[in-house]
Amino acid sequence: MEPNRTRRPRAPLPGSLRADVCIVGAGYTGLWTAYYLKKAAPQLRVVILEQRFAGYGASGRNGGWLTNAVTGGRGQYVKTHGREAAALFQTHMNETVDEVIRVATLEGIDADIVKGGEFTVAYDAPQQSRLIAEVRSEQSWSMTDVELLSAKEATDRINVVGTTGASWHPHCARIQPAKLASGLASVVEALGVEIYEDTRVSEILPHRAVTERGTVEADFVVRATEGFTAGLKNLHRAWLPMNSSLIATEPLSASMTSKTVAMMLIDLGITRTHSRPRVSNDNPFSEAQFKTLKYVPDFPHHFNSLAEAQAFCEGFFIEYNHHSGIGWHTPASVHFGTHHAIDQQRTITLNRAFNEHPERFARRPRPPQIRTEVWINEPAKETPQTIDANVETV
Ligand SMILES: Cc1cc2nc3c(=O)[nH]c(=O)nc-3n(C[C@H](O)[C@H](O)[C@H](O)COP(=O)(O)OP(=O)(O)OC[C@H]3O[C@@H](n4cnc5c(N)ncnc54)[C@H](O)[C@@H]3O)c2cc1C
Repeated sequence: MEPNRTRRPRAPLPGSLRADVCIVGAGYTGLWTAYYLKKAAPQLRVVILEQRFAGYGASGRNGGWLTNAVTGGRGQYVKTHGREAAALFQTHMNETVDEVIRVATLEGIDADIVKGGEFTVAYDAPQQSRLIAEVRSEQSWSMTDVELLSAKEATDRINVVGTTGASWHPHCARIQPAKLASGLASVVEALGVEIYEDTRVSEILPHRAVTERGTVEADFVVRATEGFTAGLKNLHRAWLPMNSSLIATEPLSASMTSKTVAMMLIDLGITRTHSRPRVSNDNPFSEAQFKTLKYVPDFPHHFNSLAEAQAFCEGFFIEYNHHSGIGWHTPASVHFGTHHAIDQQRTITLNRAFNEHPERFARRPRPPQIRTEVWINEPAKETPQTIDANVETV
């Protein structure tokens, strides 16, 4: 089958009619349902009503992974149905990948299918340990067929820069989703299924699908509307659509696809260190000061000489070494007791300012006091306890 590059619109519903089965929605769910129904019972009149065109929903524009993955994980089914049922489910998921390929081949649907399996790469130590844990867990289920690959085995298959290891399993193919949906639509049509496009169903009632163009009555009405379900009458609270988006662009230019400098350095065999730069005496205090220094408003763009830098830093450190927690004294001043004289000098200065302009102050200013106690977690104050006891007298 030639790829369907220009979509051929299908006619809308011509008016009310009767069918054996009416399917609402021409995505994978609706189309595969129609396919297997017609294969099983060719005499059935099967009608598909589609609001836009076949493959308009996620089926025509998904990520193209034809995979055996159990959405949401196998664990939830182990909880609800037990391990044996979950294993059977996984086996059916594996078989479904091959079934899609089988039908596409049989029916001549060209959906660019390539079954290369699923390859997951780790390229740092935490990823590698997660990868190993994941593989061990998967390998406890025999039907997952997951293999752990060394860095060499992995890069021999696909050379991803910095690979430390990988996992691989065979149950995955890549497809072109729109081609699969449109190809499947053509196949079911050829089997006698009627597809009416541009026909929005407003309400699904027992044995009836209601549209502006007429009502289809049927023994069975299959709702295959997935994320659009909330748009149907009385179902707006039954379904919560979640958003998942992919962006398709024109081929990206070199500036968009070229590597970052970090990746280029890795290519050249230069690996990054994540340790902090070493400073003169490499202690956190000098590093903290260095950081603070840079945020001082008058920190110059550059110093013209070492002497100029030293002079600037001297002024900075004199200022920086005064700490609010010890009354804006330096630790050395408190340690050697010179802060008393400094406080007296500050008191004289503040008194003079107050006496000259008392109107500028709410109260007489005093130098900040040094705390006599400091706690990280102050314990609750103990309160005297009343002892309730039986007292015996002898
Ligand atoms: C971005 C994205 C990426 C994905 N990637 C993958 C992937 O890589 N692999 C994978 O396995 N799955 C993937 N999925 C999920 C997968 O595509 C969907 O689970 C699947 O296509 C659902 O098929 P469906 O037929 O149930 O729904 P849909 O494809 O949404 O089809 C529903 C159809 O019903 C029609 N419809 C809705 N309401 C009405 C109405 N009232 N009247 C008439 N017609 C109506 C819509 O127009 C639509 O055509 C992805 C999904 C998204 C969104």
